[in-house]
Amino acid sequence: MDDAQATKGPKRTSLPLPVVGTGRPGMEAPGPGSHGPGAQDVLTSTLEALPREECGVFAVTGVEQAAELVFLGLYALQHRGQESAGICAITPNGTARVRKGLGLVADVFSADDLNALWGDTAVGHVRYSTAGGSRQQNAQPIVVRYAQGDLSIAHNGNLTNGQELRNRLVEEGALFQTTSDSEVIVHLIARSRHDTVEAQIDDALSHLEGAFSLVISVGNTLFAAVDPRGFRPLVLGRKGKGYVVASETCALDIIDAEYIRDIKPGEVLKLKGSEIHRLRSLAPAPKPAPCVFELVYFARPDSRIWGASVDRARRAFGRQLAREHPADADCVFAVPDSANSSALGYAEESGIPYELGLLRNHYVGRTFIKPSQADRDFGARIKYNPVREVVEDRRVVVVDDSLVRGTTSTSLVKFLRNAGAREVHLRIASPPVRFPCFYGIDMPSREELIGSSHSIPEIGEILGVDSMGYLSLEGMLGVVEEFGPFCDACFSGDYSAPLVDMERGLVTETVPPGC
Ligand code: AMP
Repeated sequence: MDDAQATKGPKRTSLPLPVVGTGRPGMEAPGPGSHGPGAQDVLTSTLEALPREECGVFAVTGVEQAAELVFLGLYALQHRGQESAGICAITPNGTARVRKGLGLVADVFSADDLNALWGDTAVGHVRYSTAGGSRQQNAQPIVVRYAQGDLSIAHNGNLTNGQELRNRLVEEGALFQTTSDSEVIVHLIARSRHDTVEAQIDDALSHLEGAFSLVISVGNTLFAAVDPRGFRPLVLGRKGKGYVVASETCALDIIDAEYIRDIKPGEVLKLKGSEIHRLRSLAPAPKPAPCVFELVYFARPDSRIWGASVDRARRAFGRQLAREHPADADCVFAVPDSANSSALGYAEESGIPYELGLLRNHYVGRTFIKPSQADRDFGARIKYNPVREVVEDRRVVVVDDSLVRGTTSTSLVKFLRNAGAREVHLRIASPPVRFPCFYGIDMPSREELIGSSHSIPEIGEILGVDSMGYLSLEGMLGVVEEFGPFCDACFSGDYSAPLVDMERGLVTETVPPGC
């Protein structure tokens, strides 16, 4: 790998940036001068409720019909975001074409769309938002035409100074079309006073605080970058003569790409066809802080991230949980699917038989994606059903990966009792979630977190269980020690990246900045 040096250049004039492909469905190509209605919203609503987002990114370069591969990759990353999906493909002459919309990957793209998205470089994104409602305008990739050509960006993570940067840019005359903090990055690149694309990107990234795992295309060149703490995963793979960048390795598998390595904290890579260059790294953080909640819940168990198999990590959590909180019971089962691996670990360690005691309806989305609490309660009720033959007259251990509001477990305990369970022992394969996440995992405010407002015995009483136990923080970190250190802020309140917007009152705890 070569190191390309970032160069400084003369000051360039800053022009308002047209943001394209955000307002209407269908195929869109960047056109100059298209300023949308979003700008006024932003000027008048600094403290407006912004959507919280979690996302998956996937990009390919140097492979024919890259958009088809991106489509498949996004399929594999669907669990990281179900609200919207988008693909931007770049033609050989550097023109970006984008198709994005609200909904699942399978619903957003037709065969005709994929045919029209031709070129050997493409960038894709799936987005997941809970607060703030569904916004077509926030779907990514964001695509613009700027001085150096067509640019697209797909972002996973939350910036913790996104609002501060946005306010500054708005004061300088920038026109925003989305409420997503990812658009801030686009403006910073376009307004950079450096004169090479590499230096502009490097410059823009150096202003960011918080979490970002990014793919950016400028013309046919792809850039991949991870913030200095490496909060969110981003992996590099090889497909034929080209390269693939993905949030998780399960997305490499689906296109038969070969895993090369994880992109390291602070690393910025430049990929062009079959060439790869490591650009100057971002200023290092005191220590890396990959998000342990990716291992607990968010990533797919068939992925490897940060060198760890997600399945193996969850099994280890389950085994440790069984050591810390044994139970006298007849069977163990998971709240499917995210707790399957940890329930297996619990069963292995305790010797209690593993059963399929709860069935999940796969045609219902993740309960968290419903914007209101009423919807969430309903979601839990329609999502799971106990298998009466497994639970009737038995002492059951139910393992879930995490307890957030307690909504799922409250409903489940009732179902299990109604199905005849004699005793219900709830085991949670992570510590109590007590603090909101500002780095890209959707967590409600502290008041809504059951682990923050109640003691463990109180929680057991509220949920109506015979016994309950959480994995300890030390126990959890201990079994994945070789892959850490990790960010455990949602459990410990130890926030490693400064919460700039929060500290300056630009966002509230209940409303972390978008994406
Ligand atoms: P709750 O029902 O509010 O206690 O949420 C816990 C359930 O939601 C668990 O079954 C988890 O698998 C799942 N979960 C945990 N964290 C999240 C998250 N950030 N987004 C969506 N679902 C989550």
